[in-house]
Amino acid sequence: MKRILNSLFLLFLITVFLYSCKQQKETINSSQNSEVTSNKSKKPKNIILLIGDGMGLSQVSSSLFYNENDSNFDRFSTIGLIKTSSSSDLITDSAASATAFASGIKTYNGAVGVTKDSISIETIVELISKKGISTGLVSTSSITHATPACFYAHVKSRRSEEDIATYLVHSDIDFFAGGGSKFFKNREDGKNLISVLKEKGFEVSSKELPKKVSNKKQAILLSKKGMPKMIEGRGDFLPNATKLAIESLSGNENGFFLMVEGSQIDWGGHDNDSEYLITELLDFDKTIGVALDFAKQNGETLVIVTADHETGGFTLAADDGDYNKIKPVFSSSSHSATMIPVFAEGPESLEFGGIYENTEIYTKMVSLFSE
Ligand code: MG
Ligand code: ZN
Repeated sequence: MKRILNSLFLLFLITVFLYSCKQQKETINSSQNSEVTSNKSKKPKNIILLIGDGMGLSQVSSSLFYNENDSNFDRFSTIGLIKTSSSSDLITDSAASATAFASGIKTYNGAVGVTKDSISIETIVELISKKGISTGLVSTSSITHATPACFYAHVKSRRSEEDIATYLVHSDIDFFAGGGSKFFKNREDGKNLISVLKEKGFEVSSKELPKKVSNKKQAILLSKKGMPKMIEGRGDFLPNATKLAIESLSGNENGFFLMVEGSQIDWGGHDNDSEYLITELLDFDKTIGVALDFAKQNGETLVIVTADHETGGFTLAADDGDYNKIKPVFSSSSHSATMIPVFAEGPESLEFGGIYENTEIYTKMVSLFSE
């Protein structure tokens, strides 16, 4: 009897073992299948858009010749070109171009988040915030300057920076870092927008970049207007603020959108100051590295790098005909009409290849954020 019981028990053990093996195999098979399907239609959860203001191809090329490190531009697999004319001019300004990126329309030079008839138009930040996606802005200009402003404000003229600041404190932005504190306090209307930011649940930093992320929304305003130049000792503000923004925003399971601007590449171009321009470009290059490193380990992040327009008609010319010596030269102190490169890496980056209008940057990003 005991032997029969023993063999029955052995049979039971074998059955349990075989059954659990089968289950395990099925689990492996189904997870393999779902990974294949999800890879086919995988859209990014997060998008980081880096804008080098005034950054044409010669500006990008200076990262090859003046960089002690490898250029992060080399890490992109997809390259495109955008046409940047505005509705009013063949040559765009930063406001019309950023409105094209943020709202997908051509408008007049100077317009911030409004159509060519001066009517407010929804921005990508307003659109995706409704889906619970977090949003952030980092800039080396004032955070109310044309490029970042177009992502949250609606004013007829980029010069209305106090009005733009009012839009920012009432916007859906969860994280911002840059300059421009003068537009938040000691204002003409007497309002103190720093207090409003605190009432709205922001942790406000005005002395230095915080070392750690806060569990609150973060407002970082580190200078009265634009941030200091690299050649005046700005240090690693842009890469470090970008890192902090990513750490803060990536806590959201619904995903995030972050716009990072290297604002002063443009200012070096306007000044026809190649050292100013190139040091700003190299700082921007380093910041691209921060975004790409995160995207690589995260796997669900698309990184797009582009510019609003070129500034200065900048060229890396042969110095006095010497092909072994480069002389950075400028042909103007204004913007130019040259097409602008787009670099993309991450899920669906192939969408960004080809030659197209700057408004399509918006269209492509929005289609990737939709289910
Ligand atoms: Mg700008
Ligand atoms: Zn400019």
